[in-house]
Amino acid sequence: MNVTMRTILIAGNWKMNGSLASNAGLLAGVHAGAASSTAQLAVCVPAPYLAQAQAALSGSAVAWGAQDVSVHEAGAYTGEVSAAMLGDFGCAYVIVGHSERRSYHGESDELVAQKATRVLASGMVPIVCVGETLAEREQGATDAVVIRQLKAVLEAVGQQLGKIVIAYEPVWAIGTGKTATPEMAQQVHELIRKTLAQYDAAAAQRVQVLYGGSMKPDNARDLLAMPDIDGGLIGGASLKAADFLAIAQAA
Ligand code: PEP
Repeated sequence: MNVTMRTILIAGNWKMNGSLASNAGLLAGVHAGAASSTAQLAVCVPAPYLAQAQAALSGSAVAWGAQDVSVHEAGAYTGEVSAAMLGDFGCAYVIVGHSERRSYHGESDELVAQKATRVLASGMVPIVCVGETLAEREQGATDAVVIRQLKAVLEAVGQQLGKIVIAYEPVWAIGTGKTATPEMAQQVHELIRKTLAQYDAAAAQRVQVLYGGSMKPDNARDLLAMPDIDGGLIGGASLKAADFLAIAQAA
């Protein structure tokens, strides 16, 4: 069991899935099951469904959030969604730097860092994703990649380090059914916490470091038992209320 002072956070990343009709059942299911969860719960939904999430979850113990945000404050950026707009819909969290954004949309470490500061400036918590590809792991570059991605954000957020959430998501484990072993994940989580501590030792003990990558009801318990794993960022398994809640129960 994770015996630190950090509360476990189980955050769902729905990615580009859902419809008004299917979301209604999923949100109701998560809402209904939340009362018996000791973990904090959140769902990060596609932007068009934020109003639906807000209506369904207001007054519940489940927070909601977005999966990305514009790096710009406002203006002529067709198609983009600003941090202030996400704040208008009551978002508590915004995922930034998900590997799908980094690889399909060419998001650099610097851009991800700027997005994290936008989220903080609008009073929300960025869930900053870091993680290596399979090729990087095989080259022995895991630590260097994770430290590089993390430091870009830590330099940008400065004193606000204690207000962010980190998600370690090895790219080779996302949506593949391959999970890092608890020991492999713990090694990187410990590295992340040590890196945080170089900037702010006290805050490093408070920051929640989530694991993401094929976390499911049957592997969650062992992952969450690791001392530096403070929750999960859940993709596929967040699309079924029963699975999502079972992961929370494992905490
Ligand atoms: C994710 O996309 O953040 C993720 C962890 O996905 P999955 O759980 O499906 O691997």
